[in-house]
Amino acid sequence: MPGMCEGRVAIVTGAGRGIGREYALMLAEQGAKVVVNDLGGTRDGSGADAGPAHDVVEEIRAFGGEAVANGADVSDWAASKAMIDQAIETFGGLDVVVNNAGILRDRMLTNMTEEEWDIVIKVHLKGTFAPAHHAAAYWRDRSKAGLTNDARIINTSSVSGIYGNVGQTNYGAAKQGIAGFTFIAALELQRYGVTVNAIAPGALTRLTEDLGPERSEEEKAASSPRWIAPLCTWLASPQSAGITGRVFEASGRILAVAEGWHRGPTAKPVDDPEAVDEVMRELLSRTRPPAGMDGQDLPGWEGR
Ligand code: NAP
Repeated sequence: MPGMCEGRVAIVTGAGRGIGREYALMLAEQGAKVVVNDLGGTRDGSGADAGPAHDVVEEIRAFGGEAVANGADVSDWAASKAMIDQAIETFGGLDVVVNNAGILRDRMLTNMTEEEWDIVIKVHLKGTFAPAHHAAAYWRDRSKAGLTNDARIINTSSVSGIYGNVGQTNYGAAKQGIAGFTFIAALELQRYGVTVNAIAPGALTRLTEDLGPERSEEEKAASSPRWIAPLCTWLASPQSAGITGRVFEASGRILAVAEGWHRGPTAKPVDDPEAVDEVMRELLSRTRPPAGMDGQDLPGWEGR
């Protein structure tokens, strides 16, 4: 039986380890030809070693799949373009870009350095924008030449961004930014046959394994990154046609659709600053609290 992604060409960034590796393996199992991108650095974004990407390529080839390695830093504009070109030249086209590469530099706002801010924003935001831009330009050119696309951009957000987590102003700002980017890119690229969605994953990987408390074996099984790959595979496949601009949550515990910002209670504008307090407190008494990391109303925020 042909796989769900038979014949599709996919790039997965940051696919040497963790969640991206699971994406690359499942996409290949489902018949996709995969460019396995990985810089080969440390969790904080330093260093480079092409080993992990080659290992994943070998795993894919061992079960008869098709894959090539790519060692680009996805936040490098030219290297990112070369990665898109490599997919097209190697496999004759491009259908799916999964922007998964990421790093952490957690720190309280008061202690965060400029370098810690800059590198996290660069890898996540520019590392999403650059591959998306170069791929979108390719799909637009095809569309203008009268060809049809059934293409996908699948970005990576996080509950740390869409809901918010202490110690991650840099990472959370980038991940919330990716959610906004996803919706706007979805609006722009509809006309070219491209859907753009994001996944907010939850898994124990190198990025997260030493955060939080000790886990039981059962908790570790529920935290495997393999739970996230089916959603990515579905999004990459033709089955998800027409679904765009969404942020999905996926882990070994839950599959969910995250709902975005909406305008809440409203009032007539006031021109007296002394009048704002009463109006705003009344509006806030009718406003839903922000969500906690579990996506539910955060206790203690009612009315403020
Ligand atoms: P991981 O195991 O550390 O994998 C991240 C991958 O990204 C690594 O293979 C890393 O490659 C690669 N990478 C980092 N910077 C790169 C760059 N500039 N260019 C190319 N590749 C780069 O972490 P993970 O948990 O699987 O994370 C995958 C994505 O999910 C990230 O975007 C992360 O923020 C997001 N996420 C994860 C969780 C979670 O619970 N694990 C939760 C929310 C969001 P090298 O280190 O080999 O260079």
